[in-house]
Amino acid sequence: MKEFIGTCIKCNKEIYCKDGFLDGVNEQGRLYCFPCSEEHQREAENKIK
Ligand SMILES: [Zn+2]
Repeated sequence: MKEFIGTCIKCNKEIYCKDGFLDGVNEQGRLYCFPCSEEHQREAENKIK
């Protein structure tokens, strides 16, 4: 089963929920695909340092 959830706010990739597993990351209501989520995480860490 595959359910369309939304698009990545960075690259507009379509994000689906497959068998109850989200094919991306929902961060405070914003959707990211995995590569963009990792990038976003690194950017956030860089701001802290
Ligand atoms: Zn993305």
